[in-house]
Amino acid sequence: MEDVYAMPLHDRTTWLHGDFFHCLQPPVALGRTWRLVLLGPPGVGKGTQANLLSAMLGACPLSTGDIFRAARERGGTHSGLMQAHDRLARGELVPDDIVLQLIHNRQTCLRCEAGFLLDGFPRTTAQASTLDGLLAMHHVRLDAVILYELDERELVARLAGRRVCSRCEAPYHVTTRPTREPGICDHCGGPVTQRVDDKPAAIRTRLAAYFEATARVADYYRQQDLLLTVSAASEPDVVLAQSLQRLASRGFPVPQVSQTV
Ligand code: AMP
Repeated sequence: MEDVYAMPLHDRTTWLHGDFFHCLQPPVALGRTWRLVLLGPPGVGKGTQANLLSAMLGACPLSTGDIFRAARERGGTHSGLMQAHDRLARGELVPDDIVLQLIHNRQTCLRCEAGFLLDGFPRTTAQASTLDGLLAMHHVRLDAVILYELDERELVARLAGRRVCSRCEAPYHVTTRPTREPGICDHCGGPVTQRVDDKPAAIRTRLAAYFEATARVADYYRQQDLLLTVSAASEPDVVLAQSLQRLASRGFPVPQVSQTV
């Protein structure tokens, strides 16, 4: 389980770089094509759940934050992405027009036969309604939206202690999941650092942005009867089992996990 939630199993080339680029290993659906949105405040563990669900369901974990970080890694000078990175560093939301342009350039992923697990998108109701329009254009629909919930103090503790490998993106936490060697990734030996937006001022801004804008996205999906709520207070494998159980309660054919919830 440990390696599974450390990193995505897919290379996600198309998602990270746009429709002109092809995934090295196109993902394969396991059983059915799942199309899910994972919602919840920063620090709740959406990325970890996206990787765990991806291993169970086959769908590709797609994070918009990862697109911005990948662009930064490449040293791109596109003005929209430069502006996006300044916003990201301060913990502010990137403007809808920039985000939606990225999504327009990644429609291959929305219609991919393997399905998707969107993480960090949509974050505003304008983004959610654009996503609806794009999915309708490709004759596909969301199966469900999973909203992960956690007490705000715990969110701050998780974000402030989070560390990430700058090479392979494996996640760590200074107290709950430390590296074996200080500052060195257990998986690839890369440098493990703190994300620029996990500093205290940016954390406050990100949580405020979530409660101001993104929480409304949950209402948007609740009105469509797509919303399933899961507590993120437990260990990742328990949260995974609860997510699958919620999907099963809606009649979806989910694979079994050994965890008892
Ligand atoms: P994440 O990796 O999801 O925590 O996202 C990191 C940062 O990227 C956010 O704090 C925003 O600055 C930016 N970002 C990612 N996705 C979006 C989005 N859908 N809308 C606006 N800003 C976003």
